[in-house]
Amino acid sequence: MSHLAEPYRIKMVEPLVVTTREEREEAIEQAGYNTFLLPSQKVYIDLLTDSGTNAMSDRQWSMMMLGDEAYAGSVSFERLRSAVEQNYGFPFTVPTHQGRGAEHLISKILITPGQYVPGNMYFTTTRYHQEAAGGIFVDVVMDEAHDPTADHPFKGNIDLAKLEALVAEHGAEKIAYVNQAVTVNLAGGQPVSMQNIREVHEFCQAHGIVHWSDATRLAENAYFIQQREDGYRDKSTREIAKEMMSYFDGLTMSGKKDGLVNIGGFLAMRDESILVKARELVVVYEGMPSYGGMAGRDMEALAQGLVEALDDDYLAHRVGQVTYLGRRLQEAGVPIVTPVGGHAVFLDARAFLPHLAQDEFPAQALAAELYVESGVRSMERGIVSAGRDENGQHRYPRLELVRLTIPRRVYTDRHLDVVADAVIALYERRDEIGGLRFVYEPPSLRFFTARFEPLPAKPVDSALDDAVLSRTRLAPESVRA
Ligand SMILES: *Cc1c(COP(=O)(O)O)cnc(C)c1O
Repeated sequence: MSHLAEPYRIKMVEPLVVTTREEREEAIEQAGYNTFLLPSQKVYIDLLTDSGTNAMSDRQWSMMMLGDEAYAGSVSFERLRSAVEQNYGFPFTVPTHQGRGAEHLISKILITPGQYVPGNMYFTTTRYHQEAAGGIFVDVVMDEAHDPTADHPFKGNIDLAKLEALVAEHGAEKIAYVNQAVTVNLAGGQPVSMQNIREVHEFCQAHGIVHWSDATRLAENAYFIQQREDGYRDKSTREIAKEMMSYFDGLTMSGKKDGLVNIGGFLAMRDESILVKARELVVVYEGMPSYGGMAGRDMEALAQGLVEALDDDYLAHRVGQVTYLGRRLQEAGVPIVTPVGGHAVFLDARAFLPHLAQDEFPAQALAAELYVESGVRSMERGIVSAGRDENGQHRYPRLELVRLTIPRRVYTDRHLDVVADAVIALYERRDEIGGLRFVYEPPSLRFFTARFEPLPAKPVDSALDDAVLSRTRLAPESVRA
């Protein structure tokens, strides 16, 4: 079954850079085997992230010319506020420079130090801001989310039993708020069902707990509800998104994902007392409440992007493209997270490289090797991203993944074939891929700037025969080659 062809045509092109294998070997070594540190001019197909890499439409570019750059009372702010209200139903919007700006503010507003913040898995910057505000993050996602092969249509759901147990143990007053992400980025873009949102809403109402959404990927989540949940097949994604948001007290949003822009974000809410606090803080950390770190033109593009992201054809193509890449890899036997989520295909690096221990950074090594193979840039989402715990030990997440993230409206299906062919080629010679070790490790959010080198060859036991030897980590060249 093939998915809808691109429901747009190309009006402007951006040439891609094609490199040689030798150039890529040198580039990855200089980048400390961290794909974040590669210069983009050395990347052919950039699947590092779908964040801020969106292609804007002709309408969005046109709206940018109408940006009102007034310091206060900007018409562009009013257009953004009104788009948020029309599409999501929240009357109050506070713009921020991007999603983490909104996370910073809401964490400061809702968290009293020592309170718990349950969520359906963590997101790096979200958890960072919650912890910086004195909160204690607790993962209440259903167990299936941590199992890369579990088959469930809504693997991002909150496990109500886990949430109930947390509240029973500590009392509702020790819960700062429930943060429910739609979809769940770190679980592979797995969606949350409308039923689960409704149930968490009812539970929070009954206990007087604030129910917040990380709505960064809500359009893709709405599409999954339309495709998979009983009673929603005949509803538009726009109607579904609005119903989803009707159950929340407010949201944080990164415009760089389902806002279809390159920068921007906001928080939105119904409660005026939260609005007052957010307006106070936004001035200190972001900018005036009528722009919060965005130019007027950015707010225009975002207002238009919020509307375009809830177009059914756009979403059928967007999610269909991700599914297509996943299916090609699965057909070749490559281990990936299933079912495939909304924005990315995740390679299961544990299963791909079973000969590497997790503290030899298999996902990091696989991402580096994929770049050398093909010029395709991907990202580690495993032990390096998980960081260290309060005792300075690595957190060992169950998922050790390489993320192939598809930017919105940027690449064609043909580009995705190039990606699939490269991953399949690597899978066929997976035994040759060795591990890595740290050369430099920053104190926090280490995946952005850490540097690595290939592990030295292990001392070879003379008793090993050639067959065993060929399955063992060999010389550093095996990573470079
Ligand atoms: C990207 C992202 C954020 C943070 O947004 P930024 O705009 O990158 O600061 C928060 N939550 C989720 C689920 C995201 O994907």
